[in-house]
Amino acid sequence: MTAFTTTVADGIARLVLDLPHEPINKITRGVREELEQLVEEVARDAAIRAVVLLSGKSDTFIAGADIDEFVALRTRDEAYALVKGGQALINRLPALGKPVVAAIHGACLGGGLEAALACTYRLATEHDKTKIGLPEVQLGIIPAAGGCQRLPRLIGIQAALDIILAGKTLPAKSAFRRGIVDELVHPAVLEREAMRAARQLAGGWRPARPGGGVKAALLEKNPAGRALVFALARKQVRAKTGGHYPAPLTALQAVEHGLRYGVDAGLDFEAASFADLAVGDVSRELVRIFFATTALKKDFGVADAPEPRPVERLGVAGAGFMGAGIGGTAVTQAGVDVRLRDTSLTAVGKGLAAARRIVDDRLKRRRISKYEHRRLTAQLSGGTGWAGFRRADLVIEAVFEDLDVKHAVFRELEAEVGEECILASNTSTIPIERISAVLSRPERVLGMHFFSPVEKMPLLEVIVTGQTSPSATATAVAFGRRMGKTVVVVQDHPGFWVNRILAPYLNEAGRLVAEGVEIEGLDRLMKRFGFPVGPITLLDEIGLDVGLKASSVLHEAFGDRMRPQEGLKAVVAAGRLGRKSGGGFYRYKKGKRRGVDESIYALIGTQPGSATIADADVRDRLLYAMLNEAVRALDEGVVRSPRDGDIAAIFGIGYPPFLGGPLRTLDRAGIPQAVEILRRLTTAYGDRFTPAPRLERMAADGERFYPDD
Ligand code: NAD
Repeated sequence: MTAFTTTVADGIARLVLDLPHEPINKITRGVREELEQLVEEVARDAAIRAVVLLSGKSDTFIAGADIDEFVALRTRDEAYALVKGGQALINRLPALGKPVVAAIHGACLGGGLEAALACTYRLATEHDKTKIGLPEVQLGIIPAAGGCQRLPRLIGIQAALDIILAGKTLPAKSAFRRGIVDELVHPAVLEREAMRAARQLAGGWRPARPGGGVKAALLEKNPAGRALVFALARKQVRAKTGGHYPAPLTALQAVEHGLRYGVDAGLDFEAASFADLAVGDVSRELVRIFFATTALKKDFGVADAPEPRPVERLGVAGAGFMGAGIGGTAVTQAGVDVRLRDTSLTAVGKGLAAARRIVDDRLKRRRISKYEHRRLTAQLSGGTGWAGFRRADLVIEAVFEDLDVKHAVFRELEAEVGEECILASNTSTIPIERISAVLSRPERVLGMHFFSPVEKMPLLEVIVTGQTSPSATATAVAFGRRMGKTVVVVQDHPGFWVNRILAPYLNEAGRLVAEGVEIEGLDRLMKRFGFPVGPITLLDEIGLDVGLKASSVLHEAFGDRMRPQEGLKAVVAAGRLGRKSGGGFYRYKKGKRRGVDESIYALIGTQPGSATIADADVRDRLLYAMLNEAVRALDEGVVRSPRDGDIAAIFGIGYPPFLGGPLRTLDRAGIPQAVEILRRLTTAYGDRFTPAPRLERMAADGERFYPDD
């Protein structure tokens, strides 16, 4: 295999990496061996004065190390050997004694950026495809081919930590502003400009680099300032990871160690800690999630999926909270024309303004240009009639959660839209079949269940009935993806997937409070366990009325085990609906939370702190209510696989990623052990914890949800 093509002209060696039979460039064993040899030759050949490193792929420079090689690592020693080899190779670039220029177009990530950082000079194309970053911590590892050493020396400690600790990927412009690349050029002249830079560098010219700016230099050059920078970063990392994700803190130590003891010591630290992390549980789970989401991106949720139909025009019925979010996100992410419809001009105006704020936010974050902002804003329109809906390829309904209102809207829509138009509902609780029952072509009807706030929440549930056509499903999935969502196809069962498994968890939280468990302590416990917020905070965010309505629907469908907590009804009746009404369990002022509203306990009929339930039991009751329900729903075929269920829980609820999802958690706990816990909870707290029959079966047969792991 030859991955590199080399030509030498005018004393400049041009190395073009184009990994055969692969859509992207990545650093494989083969690439490393070949590059090693090439570097050797360049070093020996006195006629070569400089090197330019280019990619032969259209969309990637180097996307990173080969993840398959990484996954195949079995022992710490293997991991250590791999990373030491990579470091040695990359170290050879600056040691060549000849300038090396990286000409970057397309993804330059992880090991790809670490190689580029070891070059003398970096040019990048000003192009959407050019993305520069160190995403390692997102896979539970750290940049270990010199990234934790070279980046802070190039752009300053604070700026480097900002990227490394969050695993950030930046657009080319932003990488240039931060000093990671030296020059931005148009793609058409990348090679020419790289050759020019190589000639200049060979002639002795050196770029002047600010090295993180004056402020950074002042702060970071003195030991006390530096210690302060690290202390602050450490505090932030601790707060963010809750101690569950070791990689960011380790990366911080690798940076600190290298600055204190020198690059070589820093590299040793990187290698040793990479080896520990690479074979650790957290990294393994994060890598699995990465593979699962990658696989989901190619999965349309139906067997032999037909080609999705193009969507250029989107209609949104209902310009309320969700309708505006859907419209604004669709226009910014997918660039489609969006038409909002509501019953009054005031509602339309409010919806359009909210949708525009999403477009504005993209501009503020410099993700789009002023020109694009103007264009996207102009693609948003609205009215009180159905004008514009005739040409829509897809309509998403987001009117009140009321079957009669939805029926009326869909009937009107059916008379209005074209033959090919797909009709979707954003309902959170109404079965899609009950909506489509009154329509003449139910095969084009499905659910597109977005989560709030739409522009931020990464999950979309596409709900299909027994009648939904594969073409409608594939089109909705493809469009959801264009909106930037991870899409999971689920069956039309009450609560779909996410609300189905969330409801028993939230009910149990309500029950615990009613039994006298103190609210803040309860939330703290589950946050410490790894959820982004505690269950009571989550209830306040969702809205107590909305939560009660959803759990009532599930109660009706599944009976006693889903019975909502009685006290919640009294709270809703008192008008305390959560954050949106200024108070629920907690008090809110100007959008900020102000502690528990103690009067809630009397309203529910309990006293805080009166319970003597051990923390471990509180945690198990909450967690196993969710896990057990997940098994029941999986058994009913609500999701097609444990993978889909786990990913939807992580992206829809914020289920702790380091645990891999609810079903994966059960595998890790051991199915027989999980059944034991549920039996114990049943005896102590009631029949709602009766182990799901499938779980009992699996325990008896020694099965797992993921038999291959
Ligand atoms: P909302 O009250 O903010 O918005 C509903 C809008 O629909 C209002 O502006 C109303 O004027 C409009 N409307 C009513 N009848 C209409 C008609 N005939 N034609 C056009 N517009 C009409 O409600 P929301 O929170 O945006 O919820 C909308 C839907 O989304 C509901 O089905 C809800 O269950 C679902 N949903 C909500 C959330 C959430 O967190 N709020 C999350 C997921 C799904």
